[in-house]
Amino acid sequence: MKSEHRRPRHFGSDNYAGICPEAFAALTAANADHATSYGDDPWTARANQLISQVLGRPCEVFFVFSGTAANSLALAALCQSYHGILCHQHAHVEVAECSGPEFFTNGAKLLLVPGEDGKMTPDELARSARRRDDVHYPRPKALSLTQATEMGTVYTPAELRALTATARELGLRVHLDGARLANAVAALGVAPGEITGEAGVDVLSFGLTKNGLAVGEAVVFFDPELARDFGYRRKQAGQLASKLRFLSAPWVGMLEDGAWLRHAAHANSMAARLAAGLRPLAAVEIAFPVQTNVVFARMAEPVVAALHGRGWHFYTHVPPGTCRLMCSWDTTAGDVDEFVADVREVTADGAII
Ligand SMILES: *Cc1c(COP(=O)(O)O)cnc(C)c1O
Repeated sequence: MKSEHRRPRHFGSDNYAGICPEAFAALTAANADHATSYGDDPWTARANQLISQVLGRPCEVFFVFSGTAANSLALAALCQSYHGILCHQHAHVEVAECSGPEFFTNGAKLLLVPGEDGKMTPDELARSARRRDDVHYPRPKALSLTQATEMGTVYTPAELRALTATARELGLRVHLDGARLANAVAALGVAPGEITGEAGVDVLSFGLTKNGLAVGEAVVFFDPELARDFGYRRKQAGQLASKLRFLSAPWVGMLEDGAWLRHAAHANSMAARLAAGLRPLAAVEIAFPVQTNVVFARMAEPVVAALHGRGWHFYTHVPPGTCRLMCSWDTTAGDVDEFVADVREVTADGAII
């Protein structure tokens, strides 16, 4: 497809969207004067303080460049090289991080847990963790959960507490991949602490890039003991930004006035609108419950080709056989309505079903 046929906005990914105004304004403000390098600056101090405040308890915060770095280094803080990390079989750490977690843990193995709609249950977790108990297999040591999940679903606070209680019984520390934590908080209408520290999470990868930042994710420790040497780990991995204030200042812009939740709630509402428009169409089947900012739809190959031909971009391979329609902070109701109208048109009168 030629780029001139592309629309200005589409449903490819929430990180196709640009920088939101609040984040941009904070970048500009941080650019006014000189400030100390490597995170010893007022913007980073304020961002750390705001993250503790938003999450409802004191925590230790380390900014890194990407979600892959956040997840990999957080898990490395929990594991030795001979350990196992339980995660969902479709987890980002398993399918989209090029063995980053295995690399940064020096060899810990991801142990896959099945489960419907991108979620696992305590039973499924326990069964997977107890599969083996001998020296010839890695010793289970960590649980990595994702909230919102790769399928756009959410764990309720009670579901999370049940999973982390099972994890404790199994001797596992708990990591939460929160690349879309904002969307989960907005969807559940809970205090952010209820699905993180209070729910038994030890370390959180807190992402806002998909929600409007340019770059920079936060590794957040609720247990200071786990954070003790993390500064060295981050530096060694090449994840300590010299001009760290340009990663941290946008967090201040996003968290200070609640922009992060406004943007997430908007993206969620666009996905709800999209699902409502697509659901009545015979040519479309919605694959998973729509709870946050994504709709997974099954459509016949000619329909997909016709929509791509009309300049709509979206993925068809995660997971295979479904179209992933991702809404972002800048998706408009007009974008959604035009897309639904196009689906209706290309499938009208049995033209393509
Ligand atoms: C996008 C995403 C990440 C982070 O990916 P990077 O490209 O490394 O920033 C992590 N986890 C999940 C669930 C994601 O969707």
